[in-house]
Amino acid sequence: MLGADVSNLSGDAAAAAAQGLSIVVPIYNESAGLERLHLRLIELSASLRRRYNLAVEVVYVDDGSVDNSLAIMRGLPPEGLDIQAVSLSRNFGKEAALMAGLDHARRGATLFMDGDGQHAPELVEKLVQHWIVDGYDVVYTAKAHRANEPFARRVAVQGFYALINWGARQKIPEDAGDFRLLSPRATQALRQLPERNRFFKGLASWIGFRQIRVDYEPEPRAHGRTSFSLPHLIGLSIEGLTSFSVAPLRMASLLGLLLACAAFLFGLSILWETVISGKSVPGYPSLVVGLMTIGGVQLLMIGVVGEYIGKILSELKARPVYFIAEHSVKPATSEPAAPKVDSVGTAAE
Ligand code: UDP
Ligand code: MG
Repeated sequence: MLGADVSNLSGDAAAAAAQGLSIVVPIYNESAGLERLHLRLIELSASLRRRYNLAVEVVYVDDGSVDNSLAIMRGLPPEGLDIQAVSLSRNFGKEAALMAGLDHARRGATLFMDGDGQHAPELVEKLVQHWIVDGYDVVYTAKAHRANEPFARRVAVQGFYALINWGARQKIPEDAGDFRLLSPRATQALRQLPERNRFFKGLASWIGFRQIRVDYEPEPRAHGRTSFSLPHLIGLSIEGLTSFSVAPLRMASLLGLLLACAAFLFGLSILWETVISGKSVPGYPSLVVGLMTIGGVQLLMIGVVGEYIGKILSELKARPVYFIAEHSVKPATSEPAAPKVDSVGTAAE
């Protein structure tokens, strides 16, 4: 596992490793566990340097935390790895924080991981191995099983993926999380996507290249609690769906077609009853039910179309996704005993 590994790397692997790795960590009120996470990242970076001669930088993106995460972030020691501390002007949400991290990452490959300790730095070595040794471009992680989640949530998640993947050539893997590694060319591809309304999981899968899944068991949150409540998650799902896929619109057309067919059959049956059996059909209840169904479905579908119009509006306004309040770069200090590599990198700004 030590220095010998470096000399065993093939030419391709060594060339991949030479481009280095940026670890992007979004931070929102993570003061309680940040230092601990950083220590684990220092260990990780030392180990990656020994194994692959890989230079690592970590990009912490403070997403408008209201605790003292930012102060802690500023004081973290750059032992053996470069640190970038990016602070957004307010809370823009995780997707925006990830994008800010991607925009600032200066190394070739990019790894995204949460700042709450649920994404174990120890697993990163395996992800890196899939990239450097096996040549994969997108190494994504997925929860090994969802057995401990409530049934209703599992059904909702399956429904969500069924809808978003409906008719898609490149399916978004179910259960895949935001903990993933992108090779340099996959990172470049992700940077080229111009949209502002981002659904990171979807886009990272949509770009293609060689992808591989790694199952893992997320650790319990080191402290605090999740910032994604149920209503928040429902909102995010609608965001994700409408910014990534046109499946809901297709659903609207299909539903319209179904309703029209049902109405036609109903009409035929009325015709049959009056002309052939000579009965007078009681009209009032069926009329009300019909009106309510059509009214309800129409309103729902106007809402769906409205979501898309909202997306078009926000893309058209072309507002920046985030603003930077503060940005600092600390070059790696002590170099652990290892072959010499460029640990400072080139300034991106
Ligand atoms: N996060 C963020 N901005 C937000 C909410 C969350 O940057 O508005 C970060 C948070 O600090 C953490 C990651 O996103 O690093 C995942 O958040 P959380 O643990 O609350 O979500 P869960 O793990 O429950 O999906
Ligand atoms: Mg979490």
